[in-house]
Amino acid sequence: MKNHNTEIALVVGHYPHSGAEGEWEWNKKCGEYMQQRLEGLGFKVYLHIHAIRGYGARQDAMREAVKDNLPYCKAVIELHYNDADSEQAHGHEFLYNATPKLAECLQGSFKKSFPESTARDGGTKQRSTGDGAGFLIKAPAASCIVEPFFRHNQAEWEQFSEAWQKVGDTYIAGICDYTGISYEQDKPQKDDLTLESLDARVKELERILKPR
Ligand SMILES: [Zn+2]
Repeated sequence: MKNHNTEIALVVGHYPHSGAEGEWEWNKKCGEYMQQRLEGLGFKVYLHIHAIRGYGARQDAMREAVKDNLPYCKAVIELHYNDADSEQAHGHEFLYNATPKLAECLQGSFKKSFPESTARDGGTKQRSTGDGAGFLIKAPAASCIVEPFFRHNQAEWEQFSEAWQKVGDTYIAGICDYTGISYEQDKPQKDDLTLESLDARVKELERILKPR
């Protein structure tokens, strides 16, 4: 299963250096970290950085880039964090359009690692108009927008400002859950790099190479 090459696209939300304060930079780090970890798990990953300002044209370009890079793409996840006028706003939400399963896997995994985070409206939301709907609809595979916390909620920012790896790990576990790939498989196998296994391999080579 190591080289299953299951195709996953990650998209850093927003035009570079825009969105909520620090959002693009935080999610770029999260996406780069996820790409590396997912590739270690045998996934084929394409990380997309938007390069067009206009929202509709930006999503059209995303669609074409994902299709070019990943012809058998299983999931497209756009990385965000939330912002609101009220500093009281808090909690997480995972948005989907056509089908909820990817959002449910990602939300379930996030909630397991951050049980104190409020699941807004149950944690997953169907969205067909307004913010993010264009991305969700144009993505050429199952799609989800992740909104793990609110930037201007002080308690949440204290918890999450440096947590892009930990949050990324929850998304990876959710992707594994969604695709049926084991999250454990990049850990060394039991017999990797032990003296016993090396000794056994040397003995096997000696047996093969020994002149008859
Ligand atoms: Zn955003």
